[in-house]
Amino acid sequence: MTAMERWTIGFEPQAPFLVSRRLSLGNLRETEQRIPGRTLRGALAGLLQAADAALAEDLYAGRLVIGDARPTPEGWPTLPIPASLRSCKRFPGLAIGQEKHGFIDLLLTLLRRQRDPKVSIPSHCPICEKGPDHALTPLKPLRGVGFQRVQGSGRPLYREVKMEISDRTHSAMDHLLGTVAPGFLYDEEFILPTGGWSAVLTLPAGRGAQVKAALTGRTVRIGASRTRGLGQWKIATVEPERQPWGLPPLAERLQRFQEVAGPPAGELLLPMLCVTPVVLPDALGRFTIEPDPFTMANALDPAGTCLTAERLAPVLTMADLERVGGWNSLPQLPAPSDLAFMPGSVLVWKARTADLGAVAKVLSEVERKGLGYRRAEGLGIVVFAHPIHCEVREHVQ
Ligand SMILES: [Zn+2]
Repeated sequence: MTAMERWTIGFEPQAPFLVSRRLSLGNLRETEQRIPGRTLRGALAGLLQAADAALAEDLYAGRLVIGDARPTPEGWPTLPIPASLRSCKRFPGLAIGQEKHGFIDLLLTLLRRQRDPKVSIPSHCPICEKGPDHALTPLKPLRGVGFQRVQGSGRPLYREVKMEISDRTHSAMDHLLGTVAPGFLYDEEFILPTGGWSAVLTLPAGRGAQVKAALTGRTVRIGASRTRGLGQWKIATVEPERQPWGLPPLAERLQRFQEVAGPPAGELLLPMLCVTPVVLPDALGRFTIEPDPFTMANALDPAGTCLTAERLAPVLTMADLERVGGWNSLPQLPAPSDLAFMPGSVLVWKARTADLGAVAKVLSEVERKGLGYRRAEGLGIVVFAHPIHCEVREHVQ
């Protein structure tokens, strides 16, 4: 098996763009707040077909894989907001400031409660409670585009990533009459082209320079309404990623999580954050919210070096679900539709082993290659033991 490398591809949107949500209601065409890897894959396929046929072949064969693109203000990587984060229902937001009451990560508290039912789970915003009215405002899951972990010289800072969305009203035409179809106005959302976006490219080791030469400076067209001039993106940079998602090495992250979560001796807790949708069926091919140990062991450690089915057990699942599908333009047919864990879903497994080094090695490989089905379309990208769970657990930032 060839070794794989992670590179990042930076885009500069030149025009407004949108990727339609699969479930838009009524007369509103909503946009996704990320560009799915499978959309980018289609755009890159067209480009590579003309620029470098060998690379196009790599893309079709799944040797060249692109993940979801997200806005990356100031160049920091952006990840989806973990399902374990809670924020004030009235003044939601990551930072504390004007009309924002910060956030808290419940993951460690929830894990502790499993061992000790007396542990209480915070349910109200501490800032509202301390205010003059002592208001009891519920905490609710924080939704949004994503977050950045900014590591300067001191304590890491967490920032929420926003994007500017606008919309336009169109009228549907009756092509037979050549006039507006009765009552058929619809709104189309689009994202304004401000700032850079980026996605992770996984490619065979040593092929980076070739990919860079084929793509840098080129223009791709992505998403819907391209005939109206929307969706024009310039490929600004293609460069190797220094450290996956700008995070400390996985062994360090896992070690820190064990120290804070305190699993019993001889066990390790393994939290996983879904970065793109993850399709992980059970041994019979059915979707399950809690994959069985056999499926999980097979997905994480196919060689069976340390994470075997006997040693793995699910501990906690905080997942949202979505359908992944798409359009397959070659046979002109819809792509298969699968149920997937939504980006931001958090799953925790425990492993009955004390060999953190061996586990970190196996899971680093999963971080590089992804897990589950449809990885060629950029699905199955995950991060283990993200420091956010340790860095913002007890307090609102
Ligand atoms: Zn509040």
